[in-house]
Amino acid sequence: MVKKYKQYWVKERKPFNGVHYKKDMHDDIHQAFYCSAEWIRLRDEYRKNNPLCVHCKALGNIAPADVVDHIAGLNYDWSLRLDYNNLQSLCHKHHLIKENAERRKVKQEAKQRLTDEVMNNLNDFE
Ligand SMILES: [Zn+2]
Repeated sequence: MVKKYKQYWVKERKPFNGVHYKKDMHDDIHQAFYCSAEWIRLRDEYRKNNPLCVHCKALGNIAPADVVDHIAGLNYDWSLRLDYNNLQSLCHKHHLIKENAERRKVKQEAKQRLTDEVMNNLNDFE
């Protein structure tokens, strides 16, 4: 009984879950990138030259950078992953804020795509 339910879930769920599926594949590639020698070298050099969180600095605060962030994320433009001008230093808090905002945006776009698809199918049907 449980097995049957599981099969059903996987089968029915996958097409709707396309975004998550894709994201998992990307996560592996991104993970490998973050472990690569060229990224670690670039990141360390960038942080040495830019040791403060830029968002804190914009607010008039001084906080050390914990993370070297891609301004245009890897999902957004993979070709900019080693572009020095696409980097910024952030503290943990501001990195988290940015990541959450991006995650929300990806979710919203996926929702919109699904809605568009359903609407198109309905139009075809009429
Ligand atoms: Zn900050």
